[in-house]
Amino acid sequence: MLEISNLTHVYGSGPTAHRAIDGLDLSVAEGELLSVVGPSGCGKSTLIRCIAGLIRPTGGEIRIAGTPVRDTPDNLAVVFQDYSRSLFPWMSVADNVALPLRRRNMDKARRRAAAQEALESVGLAAAGKKYPFQLSGGMQQRVAIARALAYRPSLMLMDEPFGSVDAQTREDLEDLVLQVRGHHRMTIVLITHDIDESVYVGDRVVVLSKAPAHVVGDLKVDLPAPRDQITTREHPDFVHLRAEVGRLVRGVEAAAS
Ligand code: ADP
Repeated sequence: MLEISNLTHVYGSGPTAHRAIDGLDLSVAEGELLSVVGPSGCGKSTLIRCIAGLIRPTGGEIRIAGTPVRDTPDNLAVVFQDYSRSLFPWMSVADNVALPLRRRNMDKARRRAAAQEALESVGLAAAGKKYPFQLSGGMQQRVAIARALAYRPSLMLMDEPFGSVDAQTREDLEDLVLQVRGHHRMTIVLITHDIDESVYVGDRVVVLSKAPAHVVGDLKVDLPAPRDQITTREHPDFVHLRAEVGRLVRGVEAAAS
């Protein structure tokens, strides 16, 4: 579904140039949920922006379903960390969710129905007429997820989507992601700096080095389904995997200091 080969990105030029990504290779299978962990500033958001076609990398190639990324691909949705800036405050929740569907060549009634269905799937069936400011942070992030789902992308990119919510809401949203990916078959790349979260939601965890980012670890997560916040987190394989990922992340931090 997603193939990244020898990706390099340098911001600026000359003596102030900053190499954010260096020779990164990564492939993600269709239907896979890949967690990407790495230290802050290592280039995770740069990677997401390159995949989404928001910036053009200085080197290498990204292909989605075999097609090289030139500008923003049509079959892709992004959920950003900062929900307060990703929703339009002057639009109702339903209008926010329906907005990208204008690109889908759907009439108004179908856009409205698809938005309502997506809101139902994130547990916000009754919130359509409200405005973002009337909702909690966790609910606003659910709206952002509903907007991505309504669009029915084949690839969903999530850039630290739960970084700005409290711990309980974070667990609820992790479970929501597991639940929606069970219903809608899509490939998901989720960026996080939370090691436990990377293992809990992922089918695979990739660990990135300090900037310039490249892949230093790639672990398969084979945990019994369905996952749940209590039993999965105490499962011996979970404990083992989180230690493995933790060791890789610490190795990266130690190498940099
Ligand atoms: P992460 O998401 O892992 O925290 P980023 O991808 O945001 O990391 O940033 C990687 C590196 O690139 C950081 O050192 C950051 O300061 C730098 N960087 C990010 N965006 C820009 C930009 N527009 N211009 C120059 N440097 C940038």
